[in-house]
Amino acid sequence: MSALPVRLRGVAKSYPGNPPIVAVAGVDLEVEPRSIIGLLGPNGAGKSTTIGMITTRVRPTGGVVEVFGVDVVRHPARVKSTLGVVPQANTLDRSLDLFENLYYHCRYFGMDARSSRRRADELLERFLLTDRRHAMPQAISGGMAQRLQIARAVAHGPSLLLLDEPTAGLDPQSRIALWDLVRELREDGMTVLLSTHYMEEADELCERVAIIDHGRILVDDTPAALKERYGTGVRIDLRLSASAPEGLVRTLEALGGVVAVDVDHDGLADTLRVKADRSDGLVADVVAAVVASGSSLRDLSVTAATLEAVFIGLTGRDLRE
Ligand code: ADP
Repeated sequence: MSALPVRLRGVAKSYPGNPPIVAVAGVDLEVEPRSIIGLLGPNGAGKSTTIGMITTRVRPTGGVVEVFGVDVVRHPARVKSTLGVVPQANTLDRSLDLFENLYYHCRYFGMDARSSRRRADELLERFLLTDRRHAMPQAISGGMAQRLQIARAVAHGPSLLLLDEPTAGLDPQSRIALWDLVRELREDGMTVLLSTHYMEEADELCERVAIIDHGRILVDDTPAALKERYGTGVRIDLRLSASAPEGLVRTLEALGGVVAVDVDHDGLADTLRVKADRSDGLVADVVAAVVASGSSLRDLSVTAATLEAVFIGLTGRDLRE
């Protein structure tokens, strides 16, 4: 039987302090081969520390971390050759061009000069960076830099890829392009574990999501199952043609199931965001209340449960800090 790409049992990390700083407070996690799994949580939740313990960068203070059945504390060198890492910060070598960043990585992992050159060229081609071959890392866009970091991470042919906040700071287009790239790598047989605080990223890209907060995994399932089980809420956005009349917000707040009504003032027109914990019949009640108030409705959208709602339901807090 082949071992799982990642297996964490009671994994903990605390840093000295008075009281000690608990970064990870006992995490169990099993990652299936050829899957994309996300650690979703706010800043400070323990995502980077968890990834750091898998990559051997951080030494656990409790529990067991195994990568393909190998204990990372006992055999760090063996583990390192089977995984690729894209750290949160840009760690490209600024004194080397794009080709050289890949070439020297291959050399570092023991490939000879000829194979390293071939591999670097192949990766530049695959990650659409060939025409920037001789550019320096500081002269390329954030999206390209991230593609190069992924190319470098997979250069030595690992079976497990760890990405720490891979799309933080990227524009929406680069983010979606990166998701496609990650999906392709999974199609090629890689297992991908990533951390994110973007709920859309967890929802769209990850087949399984472990929600982490205060160093603990609260739930771990498919996005659909999490939303079905924990996210009962719904949000109705109403765009009016003018300002909301006196009393409308209070009327909406008084409807059964409505939890909150927020108002966005945008020039002359208002948008009302109605958050509720039930959906059946509510849209009709809300529209009736708007019509009765004499305002005219320009647009209406209903958003079903999101992972964000799941997170709020579990922790009482927002994912954004
Ligand atoms: P995330 O990646 O989810 O933002 P981290 O794993 O970086 O969270 O951090 C978890 C907690 O551990 C935070 O409170 C952070 O301040 C603390 N922490 C992380 N690294 C260190 C360190 N080297 N020394 C002390 N505290 C740390």
